[in-house]
Amino acid sequence: MNKRTIKDIDVYDKSVIVRVDFNVPVIDGKITDDNRIVEAMPTIKYLLEKGAKIILMSHLGRPEGKPNKKYSLKIVSQRVQELLPDNKVIMAKDVTGTDAKEKAKKLKMGQVLILENLRFDAREEENDKTFCKELASLAEVYVNDAFGTAHRKHASTYGVAKLLPNAIGFLIEKELNLICGSIENPKRPFVGILGGAKVKDKIGIIDSLLNTVDTLIIGGGMAYTFLSAKGYKIGNSLFDESNVKTAKDLMKKAEEKGVNLLLPVDFVETPNFDDVINYRYTKDENISDGYEGVDIGKKSIKLFSKVVKKAKTVIWNGPVGVFEKKEFAVGTYAIAKKLTKVKGTTIIGGGDSASAVINMGLADKMTHISTGGGASLKLFEGKVLPGVDVIDNI
Ligand code: AMP
Repeated sequence: MNKRTIKDIDVYDKSVIVRVDFNVPVIDGKITDDNRIVEAMPTIKYLLEKGAKIILMSHLGRPEGKPNKKYSLKIVSQRVQELLPDNKVIMAKDVTGTDAKEKAKKLKMGQVLILENLRFDAREEENDKTFCKELASLAEVYVNDAFGTAHRKHASTYGVAKLLPNAIGFLIEKELNLICGSIENPKRPFVGILGGAKVKDKIGIIDSLLNTVDTLIIGGGMAYTFLSAKGYKIGNSLFDESNVKTAKDLMKKAEEKGVNLLLPVDFVETPNFDDVINYRYTKDENISDGYEGVDIGKKSIKLFSKVVKKAKTVIWNGPVGVFEKKEFAVGTYAIAKKLTKVKGTTIIGGGDSASAVINMGLADKMTHISTGGGASLKLFEGKVLPGVDVIDNI
């Protein structure tokens, strides 16, 4: 890691604007999982100890460029205050408006100011130059610790970094060290497990993982396009006709590279996605007419488990079934459980697979659960994250 981190910069009595990822789930006005806020604390506490005046900025949900009370960060500021009982946490009424400017100017050492939701301003996602300048004018130093948005080229993750002395925080540093460290020189056998709905979102990562893994397991809605390309019947299952050729090419590449590309060998099928009564197990890879595949079957669980058990490095992104419904979550939960038995490194690439592991209470049995689904996928793919790339080297 040759990027400048917060340990390399002097922040004493300086205003430090920190991009954090406080995009937490909020249901009925309550934060249902504060993991992202907790994960940002080491950086915030370190900067406070070193005498910084901290300005935190984040997005929350999708307010589509307009102020919207539903997505206010006020509720997050209350949680931050609870986690920092000895420091004053102040909430700004706007992002870069008069209130934010005044409160930033008056900020004292040891205090924390939280700006309103960045995405209340459409210029954030446009990486607008004026908006970057407005953000930069609030502080003297910029820190990016929002791993969950580090794959985005937005004003707060990219543009503003070019205008101030900059560094990455502890969370980004930890994610990079653990994810890149595990996949650059993996202990073998190295197994990738990919699930989720759409083939088109995962083509790049399948293509690049085929260069490094020993086995690639493909489950979830994606699998049916591959099975259809192999000539199996897939009923009404998710299918991406435009990517059948790509699926064939990827299977050919796996063969050429000597990678064991494993698809499910049986399924749970149901007349429609919402029907949790009339589901049944298939005998083999074929899905019946009028049915759709919604989870992997028992033989597939056995097959995948055998491979995972022997692995020394496993990376996993995406559920292998419609895991939001408990009847169709059996395969995904079985995979999560098997991962706890791996005598090696297990990296969970954020998003739904992370939720599955956390919901099962297995989080502390994995090597690392990433806080960023999209960002960790980019790293699995061997890509550079703009929010890291823009930070100066030491
Ligand atoms: P992604 O965002 O691409 O990782 O997709 C996650 C979604 O894939 C979850 O909401 C799952 O319900 C869905 N999914 C997984 N397996 C299937 C399947 N067999 N059919 C339909 N959707 C699925």
